Amino acid sequence: MKLAGRVSQVKPSLTLAIAAKAKAMKADGIDVCSFSAGEPDFDTPAHIKAAAKKALDEGKTKYGPEVGEPKLREALARKLKTDNGLNYKAENVMVTNGGKHSLFNLILALIEPGDEVIIPAPYWVSYPEMVTIAGGTPVIVNTDSSTGYKITAEQLRKSITPHTKLFVLNSPSNPTGMVYTLDEIKALAEVVVDADILVVSDEIYEKILYDGAKHISIGSLGEEIFARTIVSNGFAKGYSMTGWRLGYLAGSTEIIKAASTIQGHSTSNVCTFAQYGAIAALEGLQDCVEEMRLAFAKRREVMLERLNAIPGLSCPKPDGAFYMFPDISKTKLKSLEFCSALLEQQQVAVIPGIAFGADDNIRISYATDMATIEKGMDRLEKFVRTVSG
Ligand SMILES: *Cc1c(COP(=O)(O)O)cnc(C)c1O
Repeated sequence: MKLAGRVSQVKPSLTLAIAAKAKAMKADGIDVCSFSAGEPDFDTPAHIKAAAKKALDEGKTKYGPEVGEPKLREALARKLKTDNGLNYKAENVMVTNGGKHSLFNLILALIEPGDEVIIPAPYWVSYPEMVTIAGGTPVIVNTDSSTGYKITAEQLRKSITPHTKLFVLNSPSNPTGMVYTLDEIKALAEVVVDADILVVSDEIYEKILYDGAKHISIGSLGEEIFARTIVSNGFAKGYSMTGWRLGYLAGSTEIIKAASTIQGHSTSNVCTFAQYGAIAALEGLQDCVEEMRLAFAKRREVMLERLNAIPGLSCPKPDGAFYMFPDISKTKLKSLEFCSALLEQQQVAVIPGIAFGADDNIRISYATDMATIEKGMDRLEKFVRTVSG
Protein backbone atom coordinates (compact mmCIF):
# COMPACT_ATOMS: atom_id res chain seq x y z
CA MET A 1 0.00 0.00 0.00
CA LYS A 2 1.26 3.47 -0.81
CA LEU A 3 0.26 6.20 1.62
CA ALA A 4 -0.26 9.75 0.45
CA GLY A 5 2.94 11.77 0.19
CA ARG A 6 1.78 14.32 2.74
CA VAL A 7 2.02 11.71 5.50
CA SER A 8 5.76 11.31 5.08
CA GLN A 9 6.21 15.07 5.19
CA VAL A 10 4.82 15.47 8.71
CA LYS A 11 6.29 14.17 11.94
CA PRO A 12 4.28 12.59 14.72
CA SER A 13 4.15 14.85 17.77
CA LEU A 14 7.30 14.46 19.93
CA THR A 15 5.51 15.97 22.90
CA LEU A 16 2.97 13.17 22.82
CA ALA A 17 5.71 10.52 22.44
CA ILE A 18 7.58 11.52 25.63
CA ALA A 19 4.34 11.89 27.58
CA ALA A 20 3.35 8.40 26.41
CA LYS A 21 6.66 6.89 27.51
CA ALA A 22 6.35 8.54 30.93
CA LYS A 23 2.80 7.20 31.24
CA ALA A 24 3.93 3.67 30.35
CA MET A 25 6.68 3.85 33.00
CA LYS A 26 4.13 5.02 35.57
CA ALA A 27 1.85 2.13 34.62
CA ASP A 28 4.79 -0.20 35.32
CA GLY A 29 4.89 1.16 38.86
CA ILE A 30 7.88 3.47 38.33
CA ASP A 31 7.77 6.74 40.30
CA VAL A 32 7.93 9.27 37.45
CA CYS A 33 7.78 13.04 37.93
CA SER A 34 6.07 14.28 34.81
CA PHE A 35 6.42 17.84 33.58
CA SER A 36 5.33 17.08 30.06
CA ALA A 37 1.68 18.08 30.38
CA GLY A 38 0.36 20.62 27.93
CA GLU A 39 -2.85 20.97 29.92
CA PRO A 40 -4.01 22.33 33.28
CA ASP A 41 -4.19 19.68 36.00
CA PHE A 42 -7.47 21.03 37.43
CA ASP A 43 -10.92 19.57 36.89
CA THR A 44 -13.31 21.62 34.75
CA PRO A 45 -15.22 24.05 37.04
CA ALA A 46 -18.50 22.59 38.33
CA HIS A 47 -20.87 25.21 36.90
CA ILE A 48 -19.53 24.54 33.40
CA LYS A 49 -20.07 20.80 33.76
CA ALA A 50 -23.56 21.42 35.18
CA ALA A 51 -24.56 23.52 32.15
CA ALA A 52 -23.45 20.78 29.74
CA LYS A 53 -25.30 18.12 31.77
CA LYS A 54 -28.45 20.24 31.71
CA ALA A 55 -28.19 20.65 27.94
CA LEU A 56 -27.74 16.91 27.59
CA ASP A 57 -30.83 16.26 29.72
CA GLU A 58 -32.79 18.77 27.67
CA GLY A 59 -32.02 16.83 24.51
CA LYS A 60 -29.41 19.11 22.96
CA THR A 61 -28.05 16.01 21.30
CA LYS A 62 -28.71 16.66 17.60
CA TYR A 63 -26.77 18.16 14.74
CA GLY A 64 -26.51 21.92 15.00
CA PRO A 65 -25.30 24.67 12.68
CA GLU A 66 -21.76 23.78 11.52
CA VAL A 67 -20.44 27.16 12.65
CA GLY A 68 -21.77 26.73 16.20
CA GLU A 69 -24.83 27.40 18.35
CA PRO A 70 -26.08 30.97 17.70
CA LYS A 71 -26.10 31.75 21.45
CA LEU A 72 -22.46 30.76 21.78
CA ARG A 73 -21.38 32.77 18.74
CA GLU A 74 -23.12 35.82 20.18
CA ALA A 75 -21.49 35.29 23.56
CA LEU A 76 -18.11 34.95 21.84
CA ALA A 77 -18.61 38.18 19.87
CA ARG A 78 -19.38 39.97 23.17
CA LYS A 79 -16.33 38.39 24.83
CA LEU A 80 -14.04 39.44 21.99
CA LYS A 81 -15.32 43.02 22.30
CA THR A 82 -15.13 43.24 26.09
CA ASP A 83 -11.93 41.30 26.78
CA ASN A 84 -9.95 41.99 23.64
CA GLY A 85 -11.26 45.23 22.10
CA LEU A 86 -12.15 43.45 18.85
CA ASN A 87 -15.25 44.53 16.98
CA TYR A 88 -16.62 41.26 15.65
CA LYS A 89 -20.25 40.33 15.02
CA ALA A 90 -21.52 36.82 15.69
CA GLU A 91 -21.18 36.07 11.97
CA ASN A 92 -17.42 36.74 12.24
CA VAL A 93 -17.00 33.95 14.78
CA MET A 94 -17.14 30.18 14.31
CA VAL A 95 -16.99 27.45 16.94
CA THR A 96 -14.42 24.70 16.30
CA ASN A 97 -13.23 21.45 17.87
CA GLY A 98 -10.47 23.22 19.80
CA GLY A 99 -7.88 25.87 19.12
CA LYS A 100 -5.89 23.36 17.11
CA HIS A 101 -8.86 22.78 14.84
CA SER A 102 -9.38 26.55 14.46
CA LEU A 103 -5.85 26.86 13.11
CA PHE A 104 -6.18 23.80 10.90
CA ASN A 105 -9.41 25.09 9.34
CA LEU A 106 -7.83 28.48 8.78
CA ILE A 107 -4.65 27.15 7.20
CA LEU A 108 -6.55 24.81 4.89
CA ALA A 109 -8.81 27.68 3.86
CA LEU A 110 -5.91 30.08 3.24
CA ILE A 111 -2.68 28.32 2.33
CA GLU A 112 -1.77 26.56 -0.91
CA PRO A 113 1.46 25.48 -2.63
CA GLY A 114 3.69 28.52 -3.17
CA ASP A 115 2.47 30.34 -0.06
CA GLU A 116 4.91 31.11 2.75
CA VAL A 117 3.91 31.27 6.39
CA ILE A 118 6.25 33.00 8.85
CA ILE A 119 6.58 31.10 12.13
CA PRO A 120 8.89 32.37 14.90
CA ALA A 121 10.85 29.61 16.70
CA PRO A 122 10.50 28.35 19.40
CA TYR A 123 7.05 27.52 18.02
CA TRP A 124 4.11 25.40 19.04
CA VAL A 125 4.70 21.99 17.45
CA SER A 126 1.70 21.91 15.16
CA TYR A 127 2.13 25.22 13.28
CA PRO A 128 4.76 24.10 10.73
CA GLU A 129 3.12 20.70 10.28
CA MET A 130 -0.26 22.24 9.47
CA VAL A 131 1.32 24.49 6.86
CA THR A 132 3.09 21.49 5.33
CA ILE A 133 -0.12 19.46 5.19
CA ALA A 134 -1.74 22.35 3.31
CA GLY A 135 1.16 22.30 0.81
CA GLY A 136 2.54 25.65 1.92
CA THR A 137 6.07 26.52 3.07
CA PRO A 138 6.76 27.20 6.74
CA VAL A 139 9.40 29.93 7.05
CA ILE A 140 10.99 29.49 10.47
CA VAL A 141 12.54 32.58 12.07
CA ASN A 142 14.81 31.73 14.99
CA THR A 143 14.75 33.83 18.13
CA ASP A 144 16.85 33.54 21.29
CA SER A 145 16.95 34.68 24.89
CA SER A 146 18.41 38.07 23.92
CA THR A 147 14.92 39.13 22.78
CA GLY A 148 13.10 36.95 25.31
CA TYR A 149 12.49 34.38 22.54
CA LYS A 150 10.29 36.92 20.75
CA ILE A 151 10.48 37.85 17.06
CA THR A 152 11.37 41.51 16.49
CA ALA A 153 9.69 43.74 13.94
CA GLU A 154 13.02 43.90 12.09
CA GLN A 155 13.26 40.10 11.88
CA LEU A 156 9.68 39.90 10.64
CA ARG A 157 10.29 42.56 7.99
CA LYS A 158 13.38 40.77 6.70
CA SER A 159 11.54 37.44 6.42
CA ILE A 160 8.74 38.75 4.22
CA THR A 161 8.89 37.89 0.50
CA PRO A 162 6.34 38.34 -2.29
CA HIS A 163 5.09 34.84 -1.38
CA THR A 164 4.39 35.58 2.29
CA LYS A 165 0.74 35.17 3.11
CA LEU A 166 0.52 34.72 6.84
CA PHE A 167 2.44 35.41 10.06
CA VAL A 168 1.75 33.27 13.13
CA LEU A 169 1.83 35.13 16.46
CA ASN A 170 1.42 33.29 19.78
CA SER A 171 1.36 35.34 22.97
CA PRO A 172 1.50 34.19 25.74
CA SER A 173 3.71 31.58 24.12
CA ASN A 174 3.85 27.83 24.29
CA PRO A 175 6.66 26.72 24.82
CA THR A 176 8.46 29.79 26.24
CA GLY A 177 5.76 31.42 28.40
CA MET A 178 6.82 34.82 27.03
CA VAL A 179 4.31 37.62 26.54
CA TYR A 180 4.72 40.35 23.91
CA THR A 181 4.44 43.91 25.23
CA LEU A 182 2.21 46.57 23.71
CA ASP A 183 5.19 48.23 22.01
CA GLU A 184 6.41 44.95 20.55
CA ILE A 185 2.96 44.10 19.20
CA LYS A 186 2.55 47.62 17.77
CA ALA A 187 5.84 47.29 15.89
CA LEU A 188 4.85 43.87 14.50
CA ALA A 189 1.42 45.21 13.47
CA GLU A 190 3.08 48.00 11.51
CA VAL A 191 5.13 45.49 9.53
CA VAL A 192 2.05 43.35 8.81
CA VAL A 193 0.09 46.35 7.56
CA ASP A 194 2.99 47.73 5.47
CA ALA A 195 3.56 44.38 3.80
CA ASP A 196 -0.18 43.75 3.49
CA ILE A 197 0.02 40.19 4.81
CA LEU A 198 -2.29 38.42 7.26
CA VAL A 199 -1.58 37.55 10.89
CA VAL A 200 -3.17 34.77 12.90
CA SER A 201 -3.08 35.50 16.60
CA ASP A 202 -3.17 32.38 18.77
CA GLU A 203 -4.47 33.72 22.09
CA ILE A 204 -5.20 30.44 23.86
CA TYR A 205 -3.18 31.43 26.98
CA GLU A 206 -4.56 34.99 27.24
CA LYS A 207 -5.96 34.41 30.74
CA ILE A 208 -2.80 32.91 32.24
CA LEU A 209 -0.60 35.93 33.02
CA TYR A 210 1.69 36.92 35.92
CA ASP A 211 3.29 39.94 37.55
CA GLY A 212 0.87 42.38 35.93
CA ALA A 213 1.63 41.32 32.35
CA LYS A 214 -1.12 42.40 29.93
CA HIS A 215 -2.47 40.46 27.01
CA ILE A 216 -2.77 42.57 23.87
CA SER A 217 -4.82 41.37 20.90
CA ILE A 218 -2.92 42.59 17.87
CA GLY A 219 -6.18 43.21 16.00
CA SER A 220 -7.24 45.79 18.59
CA LEU A 221 -4.53 48.25 17.53
CA GLY A 222 -6.37 49.86 14.62
CA GLU A 223 -8.62 49.36 11.60
CA GLU A 224 -5.86 48.36 9.20
CA ILE A 225 -4.40 45.63 11.39
CA PHE A 226 -7.88 44.47 12.44
CA ALA A 227 -8.73 43.81 8.79
CA ARG A 228 -5.60 41.62 8.46
CA THR A 229 -6.02 39.67 11.71
CA ILE A 230 -7.59 36.30 12.40
CA VAL A 231 -7.97 35.29 16.07
CA SER A 232 -7.67 31.68 17.20
CA ASN A 233 -8.65 30.85 20.75
CA GLY A 234 -10.39 28.21 22.83
CA PHE A 235 -11.57 27.07 26.24
CA ALA A 236 -8.92 24.39 26.90
CA LYS A 237 -6.30 26.30 28.85
CA GLY A 238 -8.12 29.16 30.59
CA TYR A 239 -11.08 27.06 31.78
CA SER A 240 -9.31 23.69 32.04
CA MET A 241 -11.49 22.14 29.32
CA THR A 242 -8.90 20.36 27.18
CA GLY A 243 -10.95 17.21 26.62
CA TRP A 244 -14.09 19.10 25.67
CA ARG A 245 -12.63 20.10 22.30
CA LEU A 246 -13.96 23.63 22.13
CA GLY A 247 -12.30 26.47 20.28
CA TYR A 248 -13.17 29.40 18.08
CA LEU A 249 -11.91 31.37 15.14
CA ALA A 250 -12.74 35.03 14.46
CA GLY A 251 -12.03 37.03 11.32
CA SER A 252 -13.49 38.62 8.23
CA THR A 253 -16.77 37.21 6.92
CA GLU A 254 -14.92 35.89 3.87
CA ILE A 255 -12.40 33.92 5.92
CA ILE A 256 -14.96 32.57 8.40
CA LYS A 257 -17.17 31.46 5.51
CA ALA A 258 -14.28 29.61 3.87
CA ALA A 259 -13.14 27.99 7.14
CA SER A 260 -16.69 26.91 7.93
CA THR A 261 -17.01 25.29 4.50
CA ILE A 262 -13.93 23.20 5.34
CA GLN A 263 -15.34 22.33 8.76
CA GLY A 264 -18.75 21.57 7.22
CA HIS A 265 -17.19 18.80 5.12
CA SER A 266 -15.01 17.38 7.87
CA THR A 267 -16.34 17.51 11.44
CA SER A 268 -19.53 19.59 11.08
CA ASN A 269 -20.64 21.15 14.35
CA VAL A 270 -18.85 20.82 17.67
CA CYS A 271 -20.60 18.49 20.17
CA THR A 272 -23.88 20.33 20.76
CA PHE A 273 -24.25 19.97 24.54
CA ALA A 274 -20.57 20.77 25.09
CA GLN A 275 -21.24 24.19 23.53
CA TYR A 276 -23.65 24.93 26.40
CA GLY A 277 -20.79 24.36 28.80
CA ALA A 278 -18.85 26.95 26.83
CA ILE A 279 -21.68 29.47 27.15
CA ALA A 280 -21.64 28.93 30.93
CA ALA A 281 -17.86 29.38 30.97
CA LEU A 282 -18.16 32.76 29.23
CA GLU A 283 -21.20 34.04 31.07
CA GLY A 284 -20.55 32.66 34.56
CA LEU A 285 -18.31 34.12 37.25
CA GLN A 286 -14.65 34.20 36.27
CA ASP A 287 -13.37 33.33 39.77
CA CYS A 288 -12.42 29.83 38.64
CA VAL A 289 -10.02 31.27 36.08
CA GLU A 290 -8.39 33.44 38.74
CA GLU A 291 -8.10 30.53 41.21
CA MET A 292 -6.24 28.43 38.67
CA ARG A 293 -4.03 31.36 37.70
CA LEU A 294 -3.06 31.94 41.33
CA ALA A 295 -2.15 28.26 41.76
CA PHE A 296 0.03 28.43 38.65
CA ALA A 297 1.63 31.63 39.92
CA LYS A 298 2.78 29.96 43.17
CA ARG A 299 4.24 26.97 41.35
CA ARG A 300 5.99 29.27 38.92
CA GLU A 301 7.80 31.07 41.73
CA VAL A 302 9.01 27.82 43.27
CA MET A 303 10.05 26.20 40.02
CA LEU A 304 11.87 29.25 38.70
CA GLU A 305 13.86 29.65 41.89
CA ARG A 306 14.84 25.99 41.87
CA LEU A 307 15.75 26.02 38.16
CA ASN A 308 17.93 29.08 38.32
CA ALA A 309 19.76 27.65 41.34
CA ILE A 310 20.98 24.74 39.21
CA PRO A 311 24.44 25.52 37.85
CA GLY A 312 24.42 24.94 34.11
CA LEU A 313 20.78 25.92 33.50
CA SER A 314 19.41 29.37 32.88
CA CYS A 315 15.80 30.31 32.53
CA PRO A 316 14.26 33.72 31.89
CA LYS A 317 11.14 34.52 33.92
CA PRO A 318 8.05 33.69 31.89
CA ASP A 319 5.10 36.11 32.12
CA GLY A 320 2.39 33.73 31.00
CA ALA A 321 1.14 30.20 30.23
CA PHE A 322 2.45 27.36 32.46
CA TYR A 323 5.82 26.51 30.98
CA MET A 324 9.49 27.16 31.71
CA PHE A 325 11.93 26.97 28.82
CA PRO A 326 15.44 26.78 30.29
CA ASP A 327 18.60 26.83 28.22
CA ILE A 328 20.57 23.58 28.61
CA SER A 329 23.44 24.37 26.23
CA LYS A 330 26.03 24.47 29.04
CA THR A 331 25.46 20.75 29.65
CA LYS A 332 26.69 20.18 26.06
CA LEU A 333 23.73 17.82 25.52
CA LYS A 334 21.24 18.23 22.72
CA SER A 335 17.64 18.36 23.88
CA LEU A 336 16.56 14.84 22.92
CA GLU A 337 19.65 13.28 24.53
CA PHE A 338 19.06 15.37 27.64
CA CYS A 339 15.41 14.36 27.94
CA SER A 340 15.96 10.64 27.28
CA ALA A 341 18.79 10.47 29.83
CA LEU A 342 16.80 12.47 32.38
CA LEU A 343 13.85 10.11 32.05
CA GLU A 344 16.05 6.98 32.25
CA GLN A 345 18.34 8.09 35.08
CA GLN A 346 16.06 10.22 37.25
CA GLN A 347 12.55 9.36 36.05
CA VAL A 348 11.72 12.95 35.19
CA ALA A 349 9.74 13.67 32.02
CA VAL A 350 10.21 16.99 30.20
CA ILE A 351 9.86 17.84 26.52
CA PRO A 352 12.93 18.28 24.28
CA GLY A 353 13.16 21.76 22.78
CA ILE A 354 13.82 20.28 19.35
CA ALA A 355 10.08 19.57 19.18
CA PHE A 356 9.61 23.36 19.18
CA GLY A 357 12.54 24.10 16.88
CA ALA A 358 14.96 24.93 19.75
CA ASP A 359 17.54 22.23 20.41
CA ASP A 360 19.31 24.09 23.25
CA ASN A 361 16.24 24.11 25.48
CA ILE A 362 13.77 21.89 27.28
CA ARG A 363 10.15 22.62 28.11
CA ILE A 364 9.03 22.04 31.69
CA SER A 365 5.33 22.34 32.44
CA TYR A 366 4.26 23.40 35.91
CA ALA A 367 0.69 22.22 35.42
CA THR A 368 1.29 19.75 38.21
CA ASP A 369 1.20 19.71 42.02
CA MET A 370 3.79 21.35 44.27
CA ALA A 371 5.09 18.07 45.72
CA THR A 372 5.94 16.79 42.24
CA ILE A 373 7.63 20.10 41.47
CA GLU A 374 9.83 19.89 44.60
CA LYS A 375 10.75 16.24 44.01
CA GLY A 376 11.27 16.71 40.28
CA MET A 377 13.53 19.73 40.75
CA ASP A 378 15.67 17.74 43.24
CA ARG A 379 16.08 15.02 40.63
CA LEU A 380 16.73 17.46 37.80
CA GLU A 381 19.42 19.14 39.88
CA LYS A 382 21.08 15.78 40.57
CA PHE A 383 20.95 14.94 36.87
CA VAL A 384 22.47 18.22 35.70
CA ARG A 385 25.25 17.94 38.30
CA THR A 386 26.05 14.43 37.03
CA VAL A 387 26.15 15.32 33.34
CA SER A 388 28.12 18.52 33.99
CA GLY A 389 30.74 16.42 35.78
C1 LIG B 1 -3.10 23.98 23.65
C2 LIG B 1 -2.80 24.91 22.52
C3 LIG B 1 -3.72 25.15 21.46
C4 LIG B 1 -5.06 24.54 21.27
O1 LIG B 1 -5.48 23.55 22.02
P1 LIG B 1 -6.92 22.90 21.86
O2 LIG B 1 -6.92 21.86 22.90
O3 LIG B 1 -7.02 22.36 20.47
O4 LIG B 1 -7.93 23.98 22.09
C5 LIG B 1 -3.37 26.07 20.50
N1 LIG B 1 -2.21 26.72 20.54
C6 LIG B 1 -1.32 26.51 21.51
C7 LIG B 1 -0.07 27.30 21.47
C8 LIG B 1 -1.57 25.60 22.52
O5 LIG B 1 -0.65 25.38 23.46
